Amino acid sequence: MTEAVEATLRGPEAYSLARQAVEAMENASVWPTPLNFELWLQYLGDPEGALGREIERMLTAGEPFTEAAAEMLAAEYLPRGRLTEEIRDAGRVLDRELSSVSEAISRAHKAQSDYGRTLEGAAGSLESADGAPQLRAIVSGLSDATQKVQRDNEALEKKLELSTREIARLSEHLEQVRRDSMTDALTSLANRKAFDEELESACQDALSGGGRLSLAVLDIDHFKRFNDTWGHQTGDQVLRYVASVLGKTARAPRLAARYGGEEFALIFPGETLPEVEAALEGIRKEIGSRSLRRRSTNDDLGAVTVSIGFAHCRGGENATSLLGRADAALYASKRSGRNRVTCADWLDDAAA
Ligand code: GH3
Ligand code: MG
Ligand code: MG
Repeated sequence: MTEAVEATLRGPEAYSLARQAVEAMENASVWPTPLNFELWLQYLGDPEGALGREIERMLTAGEPFTEAAAEMLAAEYLPRGRLTEEIRDAGRVLDRELSSVSEAISRAHKAQSDYGRTLEGAAGSLESADGAPQLRAIVSGLSDATQKVQRDNEALEKKLELSTREIARLSEHLEQVRRDSMTDALTSLANRKAFDEELESACQDALSGGGRLSLAVLDIDHFKRFNDTWGHQTGDQVLRYVASVLGKTARAPRLAARYGGEEFALIFPGETLPEVEAALEGIRKEIGSRSLRRRSTNDDLGAVTVSIGFAHCRGGENATSLLGRADAALYASKRSGRNRVTCADWLDDAAA
């Protein structure tokens, strides 16, 4: 949530903004889930912002406001706020741990120098000591001081151990936050952000190392019709099914991602064109080979098919150009009847 909206929510207009959000969601037939509520508050707080414009576009186009759509919007427009909060929290815990460790260390340091002085004093007293009782008193003083130093050291060790554990827990949590921020919530594939970063770095690698790189984009055929017939929940089930086939085929160093609503993308580093084409044909056939069942009612949904376009990176080509050519190939697959794989090079050959 932006700071402006945060501030409004603690001010005199808070209740009216919250009521407006609920009303606007009801008018748009959007469920008032906590996430939708957060999106709507943000939207009403800043209707001209990127999120507001996107929500208005979706509503105008009559696009369904599914849970998956809300997740995608949140991932695209809310993540920074959420991530920043998590990171700020982690920073606070880390600060607290570090300052209590440094306090414990300076206490131990002081205890050690006190001990040093006690030893010096005892050495001086020993020189002038006269008889057993005095010696006994000196030794007993030394023994007390030694015990105190031992206790202080133990306390310090315990404190360090606790802090080490707390910091390890924190770093695990941050790792999870990082993973979540790169994952699509509906399909568990990499999300658009992760894909963009990976494609950028794969293009850099291909450029500097001269290795091969292919990129494929995949779009479900007539998915709108499917959604309209069976509902969005069943549509989401299909998205998960398609994603599971992709995830299985795209083991590292390949990468499969959900690029947008019902579009996916795959990166193939280090493979020849025929290898990539074979893998994509395999994916296309496998997706279309199963007659799907609707989980809730066991209705027979028939098979879904996908159209695919791919392109092989040319020397020095950047991510945007590669993506553009793969997209053009996908479009050609759609135009020539769907349920097929097209390579961008074939288009160039045909045009030449
Ligand atoms: P084409 O074969 O040309 O690709 O036709 P299409 O109907 O698949 O293409 P279009 O782009 O017109 O429709 C895509 C539809 O995908 C629109 C929307 O209803 C649906 N959709 C997008 N994202 C989601 C989602 O997260 N969940 C569900 N259930 N449906 C989604
Ligand atoms: Mg599409
Ligand atoms: Mg489609």
